[in-house]
Amino acid sequence: MLISVAVPVPSLGLLTYAVPDGVAAPSVGARVVVPLGTRVVTGIVVETDVHNTTNGQRPTTNVKPLRKVLDTEAFVPPEVVALARWTAEYYAAGVGDTIPALLPPMARGGRADAHKTTRMATITAAGLDALDAPHAITPKQREALELLAGNPAGLATSALAARGIAADAISRLARRGYVSLRHDRLNRDPFAVPDGGQTGVRPPSDPGPDPRLTPTERQLTAEQAAALDRLTTLAAVRQFRVALLHGVTGSGKTEIYIRLSAGIRASGRRVLMLVPEIALTPAAAALFRQAFGERVAIQHSGLSDGERHDQWQRIRRGDIDIVVGTRSAVFAPLEHVGLIVVDEEHDGSYKQEESPRYNGRDVAIVRAQRAGALVVLGSATPSMESYHNAMAGKYERIVLERRVLDRPLASVSIVDMREAYAAEGPEVILSRALREGLQIRLERNEQSLVLLNRRGFATAVFCRQCAGTIDCPNCSVSLVVHGEGAARRARCHYCNYTARVPAACPLCAGPYLEVAGFGTERVEAEVRKTCPDARVARLDRDAIRKRGALASLLSRFRDGAIDVLVGTQMIAKGHDFPRVTLVGVVSADVGLGLADFRASERTFQLLTQVAGRAGRGEQPGEAIVQTLYPGHYSIQFACRQDFPAFYERELQFRRAMRYPPMMSLVNAVVRSRTFAGAMDDASGIVERVRTADRGLRILGPAPAPLGRLRGEYRAQLMIKGMNRKKIREALQSALAARPELQRRVVVDVDPLSVL
Ligand code: ADP
Ligand code: ZN
Repeated sequence: MLISVAVPVPSLGLLTYAVPDGVAAPSVGARVVVPLGTRVVTGIVVETDVHNTTNGQRPTTNVKPLRKVLDTEAFVPPEVVALARWTAEYYAAGVGDTIPALLPPMARGGRADAHKTTRMATITAAGLDALDAPHAITPKQREALELLAGNPAGLATSALAARGIAADAISRLARRGYVSLRHDRLNRDPFAVPDGGQTGVRPPSDPGPDPRLTPTERQLTAEQAAALDRLTTLAAVRQFRVALLHGVTGSGKTEIYIRLSAGIRASGRRVLMLVPEIALTPAAAALFRQAFGERVAIQHSGLSDGERHDQWQRIRRGDIDIVVGTRSAVFAPLEHVGLIVVDEEHDGSYKQEESPRYNGRDVAIVRAQRAGALVVLGSATPSMESYHNAMAGKYERIVLERRVLDRPLASVSIVDMREAYAAEGPEVILSRALREGLQIRLERNEQSLVLLNRRGFATAVFCRQCAGTIDCPNCSVSLVVHGEGAARRARCHYCNYTARVPAACPLCAGPYLEVAGFGTERVEAEVRKTCPDARVARLDRDAIRKRGALASLLSRFRDGAIDVLVGTQMIAKGHDFPRVTLVGVVSADVGLGLADFRASERTFQLLTQVAGRAGRGEQPGEAIVQTLYPGHYSIQFACRQDFPAFYERELQFRRAMRYPPMMSLVNAVVRSRTFAGAMDDASGIVERVRTADRGLRILGPAPAPLGRLRGEYRAQLMIKGMNRKKIREALQSALAARPELQRRVVVDVDPLSVL
């Protein structure tokens, strides 16, 4: 018999293997060890009983036999295997790309921002043979090899150590040729808890049970009760349904998720609760933990491999009823799923920006469709796509128009910065209104948030003599200045290239270098100047590089040890800080200038969300929005917190320009060592796509907005059409003609960003 196997090798499709005579056929979802070139790898059975001529491809002449069947039953639930297969196909990725998301987590390979290495052990073919030979190895060695046989990408030696297998035991196995050792780059998670923390039990910034929050005792508001009632009815149907829970910031959506989950659990089904970033939305995880105790698994990237492995096994064994996790948790091995919640469904973190480039929200909908489950998409600022589906009647829209306890939404005022410049000069960063607002909050012992969605101290270094800027040698962007005084450095935000800021212009040798623009570091300095007595802190990616730094910043702010928190969009996300009464937005226009069709949508979401952080407690909140474009519709409607009006206006633009949600979009970026090479290859693809399907609209080829990245030139083409499948097929047939090109083309189906 022949079987199809997915192996964890990037961009590889399904492979066919033979089941040797006398070996029981493995079932879908079982792990098998198969030869691949000179290596052996562990893969997942995706299909059994396959014919050698499926998909109209030529039959493989020498189908190799599999080496070993590791499981008699499905290791990964077959429905999750099918979901991964769908994901690979829909997002034009190799099914191999999806495998890491399916298996108990192991140390992943390096990404560009990785900065720590780990020693990885992988089993060799000789090691597998040794497992079959009864007396070749000691029981301890057998244990080690069996563990390794079950982990296709290998295991970190630290993870092995955590399971009682010492480093020298591994070294001995390596000397005998049973194990190969290599160094892998490891992504250190900035949100992770310091070593020794109770990571398996609590998310990093979980402040612990808070008696005020005990959900079951609280009286729901009338709106909450009505929403819960309707959702409960929808869930009881036990059929696929999508509900868009459109509730303003502070309307108490979490409470609804918890009670709905309790009902699902009582009906014998399970719940998948997706959140954009656990570290940034700790409250939800903590509340679920509080309500459901040990039956909850919390999955986030701060867990160690061993802990994630154990959690995965607990879910698989059926010891878990509710999984709270980030996007990859959509592939959790949970059975009998009755409800999937996607909280803050509009959030860009649901999109994976490496292959497979899936959107966790959309995969969740497909999973629910197959499981006959209810999906709840929650947001105060739904994505254009989801709202469009609600308007079209595909999703049921359930509205929460008020905050809990009749607390008012923050009042928002706009400061026209052109007037501020005219009055105070072009150097002003914090307007008078914002400065006074901060001082008043300080006197009243209330807290403030100050948002600027741009990191660094200054955004460019330029020469007054030749007008040149200091650019990244690898990327087509100018370097951003970080730090002050001796610590001052210029850094590329894309490739991390870092240099000292020179004394003279590298182009004309002129001595008149100046910095321009400002980022969060500068704003932090300005706030300190304005309020010398305030305790000021900054929350952005730079400030939380150290393990545990984010958790500690958030809990210090919650405890009142910080008066003013300055930060990027990270401070806008989902937090519930009751003592914040002022939110200042330093420059609301940061995202508007980007050459991206979602620029207005993102700006609207960010402003509405950040304004939603103010006035969540007893004192009413205020937001002050500084802008150079006070008339822009996304700023106007965000200030009025008028989502429907924004949606109508934005839809006009999308319709006129034929962008999603009016059409489907696939973005392809071709990378090359030369500019001409990238453009030539891209125009070749455009021509072949045109030939393949005349009904598609193609934009480009054009240099990508980020024309050069990490030393490679990038050309872009965007394909629009009414039917995603047709776009994908045309593109794939165009690429099939040049396999060597495929490695240099990044295909993004339903892109969130086209930069
Ligand atoms: P959202 O996610 O809709 O922005 P949250 O779920 O964070 O809102 O709830 C906002 C705040 O209101 C939280 O502090 C929560 O504990 C509180 N809350 C929720 N429901 C109620 C209720 N029925 N009565 C009182 N407080 C509530
Ligand atoms: Zn760079």
